[in-house]
Amino acid sequence: MTTPVDAQAVAALDPELLRQAANGLKGLAADSRCRSGFVDNPVLSSILAPAADRYIVAADQNTLFERLAVLEGKGYRTGVEYVGEEARNSAEVDEVVSEYHELISRHEKAGLELPTQLGFDLSNVGSLISPRTAAENCEALLRGAGAQGMGILISMERSSFVDDILRVFAGLAGKHDNVALTLQAHLHRTESDLDAVLPLGRKVRLVKGVYNEPADVALARGPELNERYARILERILDAGNPVAVATQDAVLLDLLDSRGLLGRVEEMEMLHGVRPALLKSYKDRGISCRVATVYGTNWWLHLIHRLAEYPPNVLVALADLAEPERVRFGSEY
Ligand SMILES: Cc1cc2nc3c(=O)[nH]c(=O)nc-3n(C[C@H](O)[C@H](O)[C@H](O)COP(=O)(O)OP(=O)(O)OC[C@H]3O[C@@H](n4cnc5c(N)ncnc54)[C@H](O)[C@@H]3O)c2cc1C
Repeated sequence: MTTPVDAQAVAALDPELLRQAANGLKGLAADSRCRSGFVDNPVLSSILAPAADRYIVAADQNTLFERLAVLEGKGYRTGVEYVGEEARNSAEVDEVVSEYHELISRHEKAGLELPTQLGFDLSNVGSLISPRTAAENCEALLRGAGAQGMGILISMERSSFVDDILRVFAGLAGKHDNVALTLQAHLHRTESDLDAVLPLGRKVRLVKGVYNEPADVALARGPELNERYARILERILDAGNPVAVATQDAVLLDLLDSRGLLGRVEEMEMLHGVRPALLKSYKDRGISCRVATVYGTNWWLHLIHRLAEYPPNVLVALADLAEPERVRFGSEY
């Protein structure tokens, strides 16, 4: 059992210090020197690997499928993302796209009862070359995934990418019922984006939003954002679209619960390794829960984002470095 960072001790920390720590970590996540240093240098990478093991389900597809089966056996739905960053040229894009095609083709033999859900950023499958490249790659994956009963959930990226993502999604949603979209409650534009997204009738995953955005673009964390999250969720539910609540925030979940919204969602979703005991508590109440897993070796960004969204996790990471056996896959689910 992992010792969580004590909530009262965290509450006693200066919120401004925590905010700056989060910004510092987000800066590290975005720093290309760190990214290439930690990803390409085997020594640096192996030093940090025990901390990443908490959040990265597997390095390769063999272990991935074994572990998805363990999670399924414990009563969870599963989701899979191949860890990576924005793919800037066709070789990088092709590598990611073939990885997903391989996942789809191996999925049939993996023996999972419930098809897993695939997820990725459009910038991983070609949007930086052109939105059309991303749309074509995504469409081929949707066809393959659809044949296996699998859905694909498109992630939402920084605000400057949103227009392209919405356009690609709208084009795909008209033809494929297994495509879904992530929306970020923190963006001011999201409530009006719903006017275009909801009539498409597809599943929506609602998150707060992970990117640092200026105040004229997004709301900071706090009660106002939680209220907006609840408002958006209610609108999606009232429109009849399936919706996944994707958050690790117990306060927000309590708020949604107190308004009777949680009982109406298709599922709750958390990232693997972040708060397994919290997710389990909802699963034990009969709410459908999905563990969103990430696999692969290029994990720098994923690890640092997990630390940035909750800087006390830096302590957890340091403890994991000191004692790697603290991380035992599946034990807290
Ligand atoms: C399944 C899934 C998919 C996502 N997809 C996207 C996406 O496509 N685009 C995007 O921008 N963002 C995405 N996110 C990230 C999301 O936007 C948030 O940045 C992230 O979930 C943290 O926000 P939060 O809602 O958990 O609450 P926060 O406001 O960040 O945190 C509130 C509280 O929740 C708890 N908490 C939050 N994170 C952690 C943690 N890592 N460890 C321990 N406790 C924690 C802490 O108590 C914290 O004080 C996704 C998140 C999930 C779970």
